[in-house]
Amino acid sequence: MNNLVDSHVHCDYSDDCRISALSQIERAIELGLKGIAFTDHYDIDYPNPRYTFEFDVSARRKNIHDMAIHYERKLSLLHGIEIGIQPHVINQAAEVIKNGQFDCVICSTHAVEGFSLCSQSGFFEGKTKQEVYNRYLDEIYSAISQFHDYDIVGHIGYVRRYGPYANRSMPYKEFSDAIDRILKKVIEDGKGIEINTSGFAYKLGSTIPEIDIIVRYKQLGGEIITIGSDAHTKERVADNFDQALAILQHVGFNYVAYFKNRKPVFNKLQ
Ligand SMILES: [Zn+2]
Ligand SMILES: [Zn+2]
Repeated sequence: MNNLVDSHVHCDYSDDCRISALSQIERAIELGLKGIAFTDHYDIDYPNPRYTFEFDVSARRKNIHDMAIHYERKLSLLHGIEIGIQPHVINQAAEVIKNGQFDCVICSTHAVEGFSLCSQSGFFEGKTKQEVYNRYLDEIYSAISQFHDYDIVGHIGYVRRYGPYANRSMPYKEFSDAIDRILKKVIEDGKGIEINTSGFAYKLGSTIPEIDIIVRYKQLGGEIITIGSDAHTKERVADNFDQALAILQHVGFNYVAYFKNRKPVFNKLQ
């Protein structure tokens, strides 16, 4: 994995993660990764009061910067963020990004209609799967229509991890209108998407998004795609990257991206 960057890694700056940045770094070195991007949660006014997904951005930047110098011969460390967008936090989120001097910004939808998708079932109640997934996808579209200071749309299909359905797939052909709207906007705005491998840990048997959505992204002219494990534990760093790479190659991508200083860097797929 000597050419690869895990572009989506959490550590204990995220309120749902207990593992230290150092442990994640050691694991990445063990795996022979080229680098990792720490993309801790910053979810302003997150609906579940058990979590406070905010951290001291400048303290963390200094911390990562110091570790980056220490480890520079072994791997690159990138200072990222996973910013959670809800309609009422757009201005505050924009301030955080403007002042943060990040390498990469993942824009994620973790909460819809005032419910956190991972820990509050309210969003799912009284709706069919079709309605839930369409509503979730519309929320992503609305987020990226109003919030522009990001690089990558996080895990398109995250809602699948928590849906109470026997079949939690989100097939492109069933949601093509809502998905096309997002992908076209991403491409038009010069942004990218990620292939998030956490779907395997959540027993979805696939990446998030699934391959058919990645095929569509490519068809529409999408070029910027990163790979991220979304690891909240040491064991999950670069988890199932072989699957993600196989998908990218199958779909016809020649390059995988990561972000440094908010610009995509393209690594040729071997
Ligand atoms: Zn996320
Ligand atoms: Zn994440």
